[in-house]
Amino acid sequence: MAEARAAEPVVSRLAIVGLGLIGSSIARGARQFGLCRSIVAIDRDEAVRARVRDLGLADSVTGDAAEGVENADLVILCVPVGAAGAVAQALHGHMKPGSVLSDVGSVKGAVVAAVTPHLSEGVAFVPAHPVAGTEYSGPDAGFSTLFSGRWCILTPPEGADEAAVERVRALWQGLGAIVETMSAEHHDLVLAITSHVPHLIAYNIVGTAADLETVTQSEVIKFSAGGFRDFTRIAASDPTMWRDVFLNNKDAVLEMLGRFNEDLAALARAIRWGDGDALHDLFTRTRAIRRGIVALGQETAEPDFGRARPAPEPHESR
Ligand code: NAP
Repeated sequence: MAEARAAEPVVSRLAIVGLGLIGSSIARGARQFGLCRSIVAIDRDEAVRARVRDLGLADSVTGDAAEGVENADLVILCVPVGAAGAVAQALHGHMKPGSVLSDVGSVKGAVVAAVTPHLSEGVAFVPAHPVAGTEYSGPDAGFSTLFSGRWCILTPPEGADEAAVERVRALWQGLGAIVETMSAEHHDLVLAITSHVPHLIAYNIVGTAADLETVTQSEVIKFSAGGFRDFTRIAASDPTMWRDVFLNNKDAVLEMLGRFNEDLAALARAIRWGDGDALHDLFTRTRAIRRGIVALGQETAEPDFGRARPAPEPHESR
């Protein structure tokens, strides 16, 4: 885990495009753990740039991506998946030979296809996906330990420059992540079931509850039980980011959704026919998955995720 400053910075100049939750967390971590000598923050939004200056997240801040990346050794795109291609196009011919381009997108195949045609001569592309986040967005939402103990998946294309892959690996390890490598296609399939479909289910269940005619919205909020509350946290995730994830990982999501629908139909049948054994068997298997995740240190074993209960409102005296 990244707790102390690195003995030697991984890169000299780090450029981050998009200072939202992920970009600002990388900036905070890179500085705190001594992973680079200087940081240039690039964001199209003047209000975000002003906030980045106020927070002191970078050595220089600009809205001009082409100018911002000029002397950078490593450039990381931290924009929604659907924007990666356009941003890469704007950088074309401006990154120096020998530098590395990376990203943090939650989908890899579509990003590789969108970015690769715009790579400058002598620039290596090493796609990455830190499997860490929260339901918050923007430069204030980031924190330096976001990636600590979390996975970061690299999907270098075949024949990728080994030194470039090592540089990106070292950065993520410096941020505290555990780095794994796989193909972009495999990444998209795995993440479809572990992340994308769960988000779709959360958006759907919260949407269904909100649309119910026989239960008012205020009742949904007032009587929200633990299970529903957990879905609302996921369903509060950034709408732009998640729209782009589904549009760009269409095939894998639809494949997993097909499997999900079949299994859901089997569960409905078990309930209809009173097949308690089938329900009990499944719920026992799923419990083991949860325990496996806890055992890997990816989740707390505390009841209710270790959440502190809000203090009860004091009763008004009459
Ligand atoms: P965020 O907090 O909403 O930040 C996104 C940043 O991208 C903002 O600075 C935004 O600028 C900029 N941006 C949006 N559209 C753009 C465009 N068309 N051109 C240039 N810049 C644009 O989002 P985030 O959570 O950091 O997500 C960023 C990336 O990380 C996404 O690709 C996402 O898939 C990936 N990711 C997210 C999570 C997560 O849990 N949040 C986890 C892992 C990976 P404006 O303020 O001007 O819109």
